[in-house]
Order: sequence, then structure tokens, then C-alpha cells
Amino acid sequence: MLSVIYSEKFLQHETGLSHPECPERLIAVVKALSKVDWKSQLSWHLPTPISDRDVLKYIQQVHTSEHIAKIRKIATTGSGYLTLDTPVSKDSYDVALLAVSAWLDGVDAVLEKNAPAFILARPPGHHATKDQAMGFCLFSNAAIAAHYALMKPEVKRVAIVDWDVHHGNGTEDIIQDNPQIAYCSLHQHPCYPGTGYNSERGKYSNILNLPMAPGSTIEDYRPVFEQQVIPFVEKFQPDLLIVSAGYDANHEDPLASISLKPADYGFFTQCLTKITRQIVFGLEGGYHLKALADSVIATLVNCL
Ligand SMILES: [Zn+2]
Repeated sequence: MLSVIYSEKFLQHETGLSHPECPERLIAVVKALSKVDWKSQLSWHLPTPISDRDVLKYIQQVHTSEHIAKIRKIATTGSGYLTLDTPVSKDSYDVALLAVSAWLDGVDAVLEKNAPAFILARPPGHHATKDQAMGFCLFSNAAIAAHYALMKPEVKRVAIVDWDVHHGNGTEDIIQDNPQIAYCSLHQHPCYPGTGYNSERGKYSNILNLPMAPGSTIEDYRPVFEQQVIPFVEKFQPDLLIVSAGYDANHEDPLASISLKPADYGFFTQCLTKITRQIVFGLEGGYHLKALADSVIATLVNCL
């Protein structure tokens, strides 16, 4: 059984008319997963409520108290903008805490069951730095989950693979000086947010950035995945793998210019599940609703 962690409360982070990071993204994925032949192999779970877990304790491990207070304050006033592209609505703070809780539940589920889990949550997280929300992201879900996992005695090293089309500058910012966390990102370059050069290696050579040219297809990605991503992750010998699973490198996606197909995410998933079954997949970007839903399906079916 594969765990999928989802709550309709994730729809309550409202971003406004025609914002690409919209609640309909999750609705499209849930609807598509309700129709697959293998739906009986999915085990759906609600995230641990934020009233039952001190989520802030884990967020404070990676974000400044000023960052947390700013998000809470703007949400309390009803709505506003953290940056021009990162709006918050009145429930956004609580929803973002619940999203973190879902990612932590993903870590627990994977370690307990030795099988992958998929976190179907929003807002996404990989652009949020220690002290700055940006790029639709409030809290760095992946980095918080990695730190949480490292509190478990059986976890000494966590690797994060980020296949979202944008560089996860926030994740990199937070983990770059941590020898227990490795970060590997494939992303379009040049593209938002402008970071992610191959020369950014981390204090312990724990970062591998793999910029991809606009127009790249699976023919370009496959050798990079096989010859660079896989050896980097294998050499690190992680006890847990976290995937920042963004699906905006799809050909149809409106925010970037890479030409992957949904089935290509199945190939990525196969490569990673050969290394370990202990994988937490967490949703980041992906803004073409059908391509997003088809890509999540391609990911999950290759985990069965
Ligand atoms: Zn993205």
C-alpha cells in the first residue's frame, strides 16, 4: 500500500483569481487518482491536525521567528502579499502549518512501512529561505521534513532530490551547511529564481545542481539522471530520500520551457526506487492541471 496524505483544508490557502498555484491543482490530482485501476493500493490519510502536534517546534529549526511571525501577521489581517507572487489569505498560516504536518507524517509513514508516501499538500515550499517567503512558498516543507527525520535515531543522513523545474533556492539556503543533508536539483536555467549554478556545492560538497537548458527533453534528462543524480544519491547513502516533486517541467506547463512528458516522471521514480523504498514524495510546483495529475499518476504507479 502507498500512503497518500491529503486534506481538503489544503484548498483553503487562497491565492486569488488566475494565480497558477491554485486549489484546483489538488482537486485535479485527487479526481484523477480516484479513477485509476490500482486505486485500491492507495491508502489515504489525513495529516495530523496542528492542534495535536507542535509543528512550530519543527519549523523553528529552519526558519527565523521573524519569518514565521510575518506570515502569521499578514494572514491574521485577512490577506496580503509576502512577495508580489506570494499571496496569503486568512487561513494560509494554518494551512501552511498543516502542510508541514503532512510532510512530517510522510516521514513517519515511510519509516514505519518501508514504502513510499506521497504528500498531496499546498502551499509548496522549496523557494522559502530561512527568512523569506517567495515563489508561492511559505515554509520549506522538504528541509523541515529532513530535519525532523534526522531526529529519529535510525536516520543519520537524508537526501533531497528536487525535480521541480525551478531551483529550490530555499532548500539549498537551509541545508547548505549541514553534512547530514544532501540536495540535488535538476532545473531549467536560466529561469526563476536565478540560482542553482553547478558551482554551488555546499560546505560539505553536499549539493549538486544540474541546470538544464530550455527545451530539454527526456533524452537530455535521462543521462543526467543516470550519470549524475543516481551516483550522487548512492554515494551519500541516505537513510531516507525526500523528493521535492514538482511537475512544472512538463511540456504543457505555463511557467517554464522544459519538454518532459508525464511518463518521464515514472522513469525518474524507477531510478530512485532502485536506490531505496524509503521515499517521501512531496508536491511542489506543476501548473498544467492534466499534466500535473498524469505526472503524479506516473510517479505513484511506478512505486507499486
Ligand atoms: Zn517550480
